Amino acid sequence: MWPALVHRVVFVVGNVMRLLIVEDEPKTAELLKTALMKGGYESAFAVDGDSGLKQAVEGTFDALVCDIMLPKLDGLSLVRELRRRGIMTPVLMLSARGEVEQRVEGLDAGADDYLPKPFATSELLARVRSLLRRNSLKKAALLSADDLHFDPVTRETRRAGRRVELSSREALLLECLLKAEGAVVSRRDIISAVWEYDFDPGTNLVEVYVRRLRDKIDRDHAEPLIQTVRGLGYALRPQP
Ligand code: CA
Repeated sequence: MWPALVHRVVFVVGNVMRLLIVEDEPKTAELLKTALMKGGYESAFAVDGDSGLKQAVEGTFDALVCDIMLPKLDGLSLVRELRRRGIMTPVLMLSARGEVEQRVEGLDAGADDYLPKPFATSELLARVRSLLRRNSLKKAALLSADDLHFDPVTRETRRAGRRVELSSREALLLECLLKAEGAVVSRRDIISAVWEYDFDPGTNLVEVYVRRLRDKIDRDHAEPLIQTVRGLGYALRPQP
């Protein structure tokens, strides 16, 4: 038991990237496994689309390498379903069919890159590296406070891992509070950021939207993040 435990700890400390490979052909799966191990990645396997989807949803992976033709659930449907659930793990699609339509279909479904089979190990590793690099840049652009994460580009919002659907005004309000990094934002600054008015229309617009946003991000959580600072405005930070 001890060696296994130590092994895990080393992986966590070393921050090894973990990939999920969804591939039904044993030969290709073996090839991928060897190549990715050489590249310094840890990998998990699924041999059909159903179990691939299950693992991708339940586990934490830095990227997926997914074949298109798979038993039970094809790779395109798998990626579509992942994206529908708000899971944005980068996906490299593999396919024996190198036609343009397949490539377009894969990218439309939400895949990030495409590699036709057969492939050279060096190209596979280069694609995986570039996928992970792009993803870490994307992650760096996220705005966060405590367990709340917001992507200003896609407006994807999550609290404690759960996806929150926001209207565009609500997203602008959240963005403006998050950008202040816990500092108080005045009503006037909120009005200017969310509605682009350079005056306070004197309505309860701000209060209404703050209430809506609270309903969505704070209601089911013990620690509310949106604080009212009487006479000054609002701040987004954990309660002192
Ligand atoms: Ca296949």
